[in-house]
Amino acid sequence: MSMTGIKGMNDILPGEVETWQFLESAARRVFALHGFSEIRVPVVEKTELFRRSIGETTDIVEKEMYTFVDKGGTSLTLRPEGTASVMRAFIEHKLYAADPVAKLYYMGPMFRYERPQKGRYRQFHQIGVEAVGVDDPRIDAQILAMLCQFFDDIGLDELELQINSLGCPECRPAYRRQLVAFLEARLGELCDDCRRRVTSNPLRVLDCKAAGCREATVEAPAMLDHLCGGCDDHFAEVRTHLDAVGTPYAVNRRMVRGLDYYTRTTFEMVTANLGAQNAVAAGGRYDGLVRELGGPALPGIGFAMGVERLALLLGDKRQARQSPALFVAALGDAAQGRAFVLMHQMQRQGLRVEIDYQGRSLKSQMRRADKLAAPLVLIIGEDELARGVGQLRFMADSSQREVALVELYETVVAELAGWSGAGQCP
Ligand code: ATP
Ligand code: MG
Repeated sequence: MSMTGIKGMNDILPGEVETWQFLESAARRVFALHGFSEIRVPVVEKTELFRRSIGETTDIVEKEMYTFVDKGGTSLTLRPEGTASVMRAFIEHKLYAADPVAKLYYMGPMFRYERPQKGRYRQFHQIGVEAVGVDDPRIDAQILAMLCQFFDDIGLDELELQINSLGCPECRPAYRRQLVAFLEARLGELCDDCRRRVTSNPLRVLDCKAAGCREATVEAPAMLDHLCGGCDDHFAEVRTHLDAVGTPYAVNRRMVRGLDYYTRTTFEMVTANLGAQNAVAAGGRYDGLVRELGGPALPGIGFAMGVERLALLLGDKRQARQSPALFVAALGDAAQGRAFVLMHQMQRQGLRVEIDYQGRSLKSQMRRADKLAAPLVLIIGEDELARGVGQLRFMADSSQREVALVELYETVVAELAGWSGAGQCP
């Protein structure tokens, strides 16, 4: 019987993983510049955490969670997103006691039982950030500017930053009533899901991808026109700060988010290049969440990026696999023994070196060196060994010259100086 992986859960293989490492290190670098520290939390939490934070009537909680009962009878869930877990840890360890401002980031797998398709999987990966303890619109603008800096850094420039405000518990209820009245007058035009949402989660109707629902809601009232004074000022200031640093954005008055905890500023990084899966990063403010989860009344804001979608977008801009600096092709037992020692010495000195393990012909060793894209090959046989030399072959032009084995490291480093990055492990 052959074993296969689970539908919608992917292996990330050599050749692809270099792009992931590139994205992760770019994120670490940019986030560190903005003062964010990494936090690592478990992939499983008590189900109650996600119910309470994401919201009972959201798609995630209603139908997408991987929930199971463990042997002790506790209902656990594989995390569908990172914010709830990070806030749980933030509260549990009283991070606010040590520092009134917490800037955190995380990266790792998330799990949602969705219909797998391009850019949508059941195990997917997010890189996310959270800033807790700051109300000031400057943190909103900083986080948005940081997101844009990340995208600039990785060389993706075709994305649009869209922003909106979802108001707060003061102004949203009145808006919600107006929206419900608007939707109730158009029930017949809405899809089955949205007809249900009109009472359970009416804002989500604005987010429905069905053509009928989109058409029916073209004239729907927008939260932006119903913000209270505080939310209106906050949003205006976010925009002022974004303008001041030249971060481009578009206001999307229809944008809502699929999680209940969002307040005020919400945003998405949107691409036209991934079909229906157009959001690459998404986030917003969650001023009530820490309190709701039993912590102090602290505001927060954050976002999460989908790593699979980032990697898809990078496409052929993806990072090349690392090639070795040198391949040692050895003929005969003694030369093979020496090749092993040379490899070991050069690795200790920081160069990636490969050898053949199968005692194959020179021709097939050269083929392997070529496949690994080694720029240099050292060829040694019994005769070379006796003289303490080897033939150094330059794969680019097939030229060859004799080198002393005692100077091998220095020679290879000198030859590679003009070369970009081969063999140098990060
Ligand atoms: P979508 O509207 O595409 O379903 P979402 O609103 O559910 O996205 P969030 O919960 O805001 O997404 O997650 C943030 C990011 O995580 C998304 O913008 C996307 O890049 C990524 N993401 C979410 N769900 C998946 C998934 N099932 N597979 C791959 N990436 C995902
Ligand atoms: Mg979703």
